[in-house]
Amino acid sequence: MRLSIFARLSISYLILFSTLAGISLYFIYHLDQFNKITRSIILNDTSILKYSNQLTDALLSASRNDRKYVILKDEKLYENCLKAGNEFNDLLNDALTKANSEEIVQFFHTIKVQHQNFMGLVNTEQKLIKTAKPYPTNWYAEEKKKTADNIIRQLKKTRIASELNIFNKIFTMSESGDTAKKISIMISLFALSACLIIAFVITRSIKKPLDMMKKKTIDISQGNLKGDLDITSPPVMAELASAINRMCHKLQEVDDIKSDFFSDMSHELRTPLTSIKEGTSMLLDGLGGEITEKQKHILSIVIQESNRLITLVNSLLDLSKMEAGMLKYQFKPQELSGLVKVSLISLAPLAEAKNITIENKVGTLPLVKVDQARILQVFRNLIGNAIKFTHERGSIKIDANVKGDAIEIEICDNGIGILKEDIERIFLKFQQVTPAQGERAKGTGFGLATVKQIILAHGGKVWATSQIGEGSTFYITLLLAA
Ligand code: ADP
Repeated sequence: MRLSIFARLSISYLILFSTLAGISLYFIYHLDQFNKITRSIILNDTSILKYSNQLTDALLSASRNDRKYVILKDEKLYENCLKAGNEFNDLLNDALTKANSEEIVQFFHTIKVQHQNFMGLVNTEQKLIKTAKPYPTNWYAEEKKKTADNIIRQLKKTRIASELNIFNKIFTMSESGDTAKKISIMISLFALSACLIIAFVITRSIKKPLDMMKKKTIDISQGNLKGDLDITSPPVMAELASAINRMCHKLQEVDDIKSDFFSDMSHELRTPLTSIKEGTSMLLDGLGGEITEKQKHILSIVIQESNRLITLVNSLLDLSKMEAGMLKYQFKPQELSGLVKVSLISLAPLAEAKNITIENKVGTLPLVKVDQARILQVFRNLIGNAIKFTHERGSIKIDANVKGDAIEIEICDNGIGILKEDIERIFLKFQQVTPAQGERAKGTGFGLATVKQIILAHGGKVWATSQIGEGSTFYITLLLAA
């Protein structure tokens, strides 16, 4: 997917935002439901309870006034009874508008009929009282009591039904609250995991090309220019990667030109240098006539320096050939301890001059398949460096052990050490790192580059560990001959 970093981040934020908005909407919906139920409890159910209490009071007041009227025959009491009856009717009509269940509506209708009966009895009795004729007083009293009791029973039922309604609503609310809680936890967990996965995928899609570029830049800094970066997305990183690739190609071109130049130069230098050396030797042998002791001394210095230059030019030429893959190796099974001893013999004067003790722990080992001359060159370089970078009266230890299908050789010194950040760099040609003391060592800076080329050509590995001020250990592996 060729999406820009901006698009990727926008998408992830959009998903995050939509998820949060979804959760919020779900909560808002449920809160609204709770709100509706609470309002219906407050406005309807509790008012039904209030009405049934008021209706009971009105009925009792009517009944009280009626009973007094029957005894005292005071018209005022009869009027009070009628007033309470009307109040009962008004309250009942209001209560009917608030009734929110079929059952309660039914109760109110029954109450209405029974109240009409009650008032009918009251009115008929009043008329009979007014005529002053005898009438069945007890029967009326009983009928009215029965009817009023019925009404009070019905009102009680209404109250119970209303309380039951409230209880059911609270119960429903608590149940749906529980469900909402569970669903919310599930949605939140799901949304959280989804957000984490999306964030991970998007971060990874940005981090992966960054890591690739970081590795490539480290490779470039270590002189490894081979291999193009293959990044197609996000577009801005793809552009950066192709710019890095172009830069590598250019650097490779420059490196090739430099190698060609060194190779040509070495070639060109070798012949005149050999001529200088030969000519000087002839002069020293007296072929040009008699020479004085002083002239002899000067000529031998010229020969020494020519030899040094020829060795240098040869090494440079070798390295160029190695890099171009043009150097021929003669691999033969060899005994490693013998090769180490030979190298040590040639380096002994250097070690003795600095009073450095060399402990050779390399014992009899299986044969390794190597080019003898080149491996001697490797040992001379590594042990030579160990001597060069170790203080007087220091010590060097050489050991070798079989590791899998190879032998691992380690050359350990207690010399000046190498800074951690320089360890990779020293294997590049012309790299001389400045030791902690700040002084720069005498040398060419391509000894370890040559070692690396030779060991790689043998299918082995070379690396180093070091602690500044405490010493360094160089490791090489060589494949077993078997
Ligand atoms: P040189 O000709 O300078 O020895 P090399 O390629 O052999 O070139 O080594 C490169 C650099 O690595 C040296 O200049 C030195 O700074 C560092 N080096 C190599 N071997 C050691 C060692 N045993 N102890 C400390 N520094 C070392």
